[in-house]
Amino acid sequence: MDNKPIKILVLDDDEDDTYLICDTIESQSETDYDITVSHHPSEAADILQETPFDIVLCDYIMGATSGIDFIKKMRGSGVDTPIILLTGMGTGTADQAALEAGAADFISKTSITPEVIDRAIRYSIANAERQRLFQSVLDNVNAAVVLVDNDYRPTLWNPEFTELATYYAKTNGEKTSVADLTAAMVQSERIVTIKDRVLEKKVSKTSNNGVVIILHDVTEHVEALREREAAEKRAAHLAMYCSMTGLPNRNAFSERIDREVAEAEADGREFYLLNLDLNKFKAVNDIYGHYMGDQLLNEVSRRLVECCGPDDYIARLGGDEFMAIQRKQPGDPVVPSLAKRIETSINDSISLEDMLVETGVSIGVAVFPHHGTTSAELMSNADVAMYRAKADPLHRIYAFDEAMDKHIRLRRQIGQELRKAIENFELDVHFQPQADMLKGSITGFEALARWNHEKFGAIPPSTFIPIAEDNGLITQLGELVLIRACEIAVGWEKPCKVAVNISPVQIRHVDLVELVQSVLIKTGLSPSRLELEVTESVLIDDTNRALHVLRGIKNLGVSIALDDFGTGYSSLSTMISFPFDKIKIDRSFVDSFARNHQAAVITRAMINMAQQLNYRVIAEGVETEEQVAFLLEEGCHEMQGYLIGKPVEPERLTFTVERDALPAGMAHCA
Ligand code: C2E
Ligand code: MG
Ligand code: MG
Repeated sequence: MDNKPIKILVLDDDEDDTYLICDTIESQSETDYDITVSHHPSEAADILQETPFDIVLCDYIMGATSGIDFIKKMRGSGVDTPIILLTGMGTGTADQAALEAGAADFISKTSITPEVIDRAIRYSIANAERQRLFQSVLDNVNAAVVLVDNDYRPTLWNPEFTELATYYAKTNGEKTSVADLTAAMVQSERIVTIKDRVLEKKVSKTSNNGVVIILHDVTEHVEALREREAAEKRAAHLAMYCSMTGLPNRNAFSERIDREVAEAEADGREFYLLNLDLNKFKAVNDIYGHYMGDQLLNEVSRRLVECCGPDDYIARLGGDEFMAIQRKQPGDPVVPSLAKRIETSINDSISLEDMLVETGVSIGVAVFPHHGTTSAELMSNADVAMYRAKADPLHRIYAFDEAMDKHIRLRRQIGQELRKAIENFELDVHFQPQADMLKGSITGFEALARWNHEKFGAIPPSTFIPIAEDNGLITQLGELVLIRACEIAVGWEKPCKVAVNISPVQIRHVDLVELVQSVLIKTGLSPSRLELEVTESVLIDDTNRALHVLRGIKNLGVSIALDDFGTGYSSLSTMISFPFDKIKIDRSFVDSFARNHQAAVITRAMINMAQQLNYRVIAEGVETEEQVAFLLEEGCHEMQGYLIGKPVEPERLTFTVERDALPAGMAHCA
C-alpha cells in the first residue's frame, strides 16, 4: 500500500460513539487515517457521491434508518466503497443480514480495539480491491456470469448477466430480476433457450459451496449449425431426388432395388420391376420445345405417383425413363396391376396448357427371382422387355421372356460382327434400277447396302440397318455406302442418277452437308447425279435441324427423295414443309392396291397430291404388269421393282431395260 492516508468516513448518529470510534482508530500508530465524520445518513450519502473514500464505518442503527438500508442505498446509486457496520448489540443474525446486504465486515462496538478496527479496515479495503478486480474480470468475460451462494441467491454477476435478466424479464412479460434468472438457470438444462437466443450453460462449484454459472451465447453457432444441417439435408435430397419432378432419382433407385432384392431374397418373396419409357417424348421436345417437354414429364410423373399404391415405388432415372417396383404375391399374373394402371393413365393424350400432346408409355416387366436374381440382371431384362414393347404399337406392356433375351443377344452379336465388317470393308453396295414409266428408260439406280457374313450368310439390311442405327455404326456405314455409290456411279457408261439412303441418325449426328460436298469433290460426281433418300421420320425427330441440313444439301445441287412415303405419321404436313424433288410411294401400297380397293384409293390420292405439288413420283416394289398399268393410269412418273430389275452387283448393271421385261403400254427407249 502507498503512504497516502486512508480516507475514512465515520457515520454514527450518536456523538459519543462517534468520538469513541475516531479515538480508537487514531490511537493505533501503524496506519495514517484521514477521518471525516457525519451524523446523518443522507449527508453521508451526499459526501460519498462527491468524494471517493477508502472505507465507511457505519452505525447499525441510526434512528429510523439502519446501516443495512444505507448500504443498499449506496449500492443502488453505484457507490461501491466498502462499508463496515458497527453495532452496539452483540453480533449474530444481524451479522449475517449485514454480510448479505453487502457489508464488508461487522464489528461489535463493545469489543472494538485499535488493532481490531485497524485490521478490519485494511482487510475490508483489500477485499474490496480484490472484489473490484474480480468484477472487472467478470465484466470483461464474453459470457453472462453469475456467482450463486449455497441458498441459490446471486452474489455477484456481470453486466451481460444483467442484460440477459432484462431480456428474460421482457420475454416472460414480468418484472424479472437477476434473482429470477439465477433461480431459473440453476434448474435449467445445459442448453437454454430464451426467446431467440440459445445459451450453453456451464456450472462449476465454488469453495464456499456456491456455484458459478456461465452462460455462453451460442445462437450464431446454432444458426450456423442449423443452416449447415439444412444445407446437408438439401444436398442429400438433391442427391436422391429429381429436382424437377420430385421423384426419387437414379441414386435412390439403385439403393432401393438393391435393398428390395436383398429383402425379397431373405423373405423368399417375389416382386415386379417395371421399366417405363415414354413414347414420342423426343418428338414432343423437338416440336413443342423443352419447356413443354418438361411440362409433359411433370404431368407424367404426377400420374405415375397417382397410379402407385402405398407399397409401390416409382423413380425417374433420367430423360423419359422411369422405373417402378411392385410387390408380387404368389399366383399374381406376370403383368402387374400397376403396369395396367399406368398404361391406362398415360396412354391418353395429355393436355398441357391448352394443347393436346399425344404420348404413351412402353412398359417392360421383369419378375424377381424368375427373370433375374441381381439388380443388374433384373434391370437389364426389364429393359429388354421395354424395347420389345416399344417395337410393338399394339401391345404396350411386355413381360420379359427367354426368347427376348436370345433376340437381344443376337442383336448384340450382329452389332459386333457389323463393326468388324465395316472396319474390314466387307460390306458391298448393290444397285437397283429405276425407270421412267413413259419412256421406258433407266433414270437411275438406288444403292443398297449388302452384307454377306462368312458364317451367317446374307444378312438383310432390314436386320442390320436398325442395329447400326441403335449402336451408332450407321454413321460409318452410311459414309461408306455414299462414297462407294458415288465412286461407282462416276464410272457408269450413262450419266444417270444414283440414289443413296440416308438414315435419320446421320442427319442428327453428322455434318451431312460437309460430308456430301467432300464426297462429291473427291469422287468427281456431278451433284445433279446424286439423290439422297430420306424418310419422314427425319423431319419428325428434329424438324428444324433436318430442314436446315436438307436445304444445305439441296443448295449443293443434290436432289432429295422422300422414301417410304405413306408409312409415316405426318405425310401431308411433311410433304408441304419441305420441297422434295421426288416422292417414293412405299412398296406396301404398290403391293396391295391390286387386291385392296382402299390402298388403290390412297395411292391414287398420293400421286395426285404429289403432282399438285410438282413432285416427281416413283413407285417402289413394282412386280407385276397390273401394277404398272395402274400406275401409268394414275400418272406415276417412275418405277422401281423386281419387274425391271433386282438389286445387283455393280459389275452386272445394265443401262437399258430389257425389251422382254417391259410391260405392255410402256414405251421402249434404249
Ligand atoms: P428402301 O430404301 O425402301 O429400299 C428398297 C427396298 O425394297 C430394298 O430392300 C429393295 O431390295 C426392296 N425392293 C426393291 N424392289 C422390290 C420388289 O419389287 N419387291 C420386293 N419385295 N422388294 C423390293 P433392301 O435392300 O432389303 O433394303 C431395305 C431397306 O434397308 C431399304 O429400304 C433402306 O431403308 C435400308 N437400306 C438399305 N441400304 C441402306 C443404306 O445404305 N443406308 C441406309 N440408311 N439404309 C439402307
Ligand atoms: Mg430407299
Ligand atoms: Mg423405300
